[in-house]
Amino acid sequence: MKIFLLIADGLGDRPSKLLNDMTPLEAANKPNLNKMAYHGMVGLIDPIKPGIIPGSDTSHLNYLGYDPMKYYTGRGPFEALGTGLKLEPGDIAFRANFATVDGEFVVRDRRAGRIRKDTDKLANSLNMEIDGVKIMFKEGTEHRGALVLRGKDLSPEVSENDPHHEGLKVKEVIPLKKEAEMTARILNEFFIRSHEILNSHPVNENRVKLGEPPANAILFRGGGIVPDIPKFRDLHGFSGGFVAAVALVSGICTLAGLKNYTPPGVTGSLDTNIEAKLNAGLDALKNEDFVIVNVKGTDIAGHDGDPVAKMKFIERIDQAIGKVLLNRMDDVLFCFTGDHSTPATYKEHSSDPVPILIYYKGSREDRIENFGESQCRLGTLRLRGNDLMEVLKSHAGKAEKFGA
Ligand code: ZN
Ligand code: ZN
Repeated sequence: MKIFLLIADGLGDRPSKLLNDMTPLEAANKPNLNKMAYHGMVGLIDPIKPGIIPGSDTSHLNYLGYDPMKYYTGRGPFEALGTGLKLEPGDIAFRANFATVDGEFVVRDRRAGRIRKDTDKLANSLNMEIDGVKIMFKEGTEHRGALVLRGKDLSPEVSENDPHHEGLKVKEVIPLKKEAEMTARILNEFFIRSHEILNSHPVNENRVKLGEPPANAILFRGGGIVPDIPKFRDLHGFSGGFVAAVALVSGICTLAGLKNYTPPGVTGSLDTNIEAKLNAGLDALKNEDFVIVNVKGTDIAGHDGDPVAKMKFIERIDQAIGKVLLNRMDDVLFCFTGDHSTPATYKEHSSDPVPILIYYKGSREDRIENFGESQCRLGTLRLRGNDLMEVLKSHAGKAEKFGA
């Protein structure tokens, strides 16, 4: 059997007054998920382990079989992946901000007036090479961005230049270990050069004319090395693909060597075309034994504190499943879960375990009526994230017996 893993980002939730003390998943009208839950196995999954509040990056790594305690090298590399930059193992990546400094390098605005416009033009002007090291800068949302160094003998063991408070001078980057001396020197050089480029950039000249703070400095922090992770095929013995519009998720899947089947036009927001994503997932399974499909709307509605929008998004997932998947699953094992909980009453990720269902022809039947947080307690499955691939493989006939 082939494996179809559908992740509704941030799926898990808590009861909400607006939904008569039900969670969005419990309150949703979802005949197709309920049918599969009745004729399949359900339960709860701790994406990392009990009590750990997962990020989307650490939990996706864990689900795919990569221990985040080993392979998660800091927010820098993973946020850089999230900007859509194509990273390579060994690259050094930082989270970065556009900021405003005065002539003495004292930070006047850590976010350059929360600049939104034309950050791509500013970022493009900062790609350069210093002493054979390639430097890439990519804008993110608002004033945020990512700074990446690619070259030989680089080390993430350097201090950051971000003083974290306005009115303080930008810090000199210090090597924390001897092998990081060159990296520190290049970062200091980059800061000076980027300041000169940004100061005279037309976008900033225009901002000054309009009375806005110029985005004339790059503050960076959270540096880490892009890990060299084993390829998914080497880890599990078969190939895989992914469908994900969120750059952070697609970056992790790409790093794992999964093939990208994301169709053009789909997004990581509430109005995405879910049917197109599920169809692309089925297409991927023509070539691959495994596909992971991420839909993000559940997490967004959770962060927005909108349980009704979350419930409606789940209902759209259910309709798409009914239309696209349900009659085409003869040789497919279907698993539906979330990468963590994002309770709409809490607006952030939480450590609450997440409902999960596994359905295939001939599976055990847990016979619950309503797929959701409370009834999933009664089901067969009790998992941690790093169990997931092993459990899916064993049910799909892709695992070997342990012992004689
Ligand atoms: Zn997530
Ligand atoms: Zn989130």
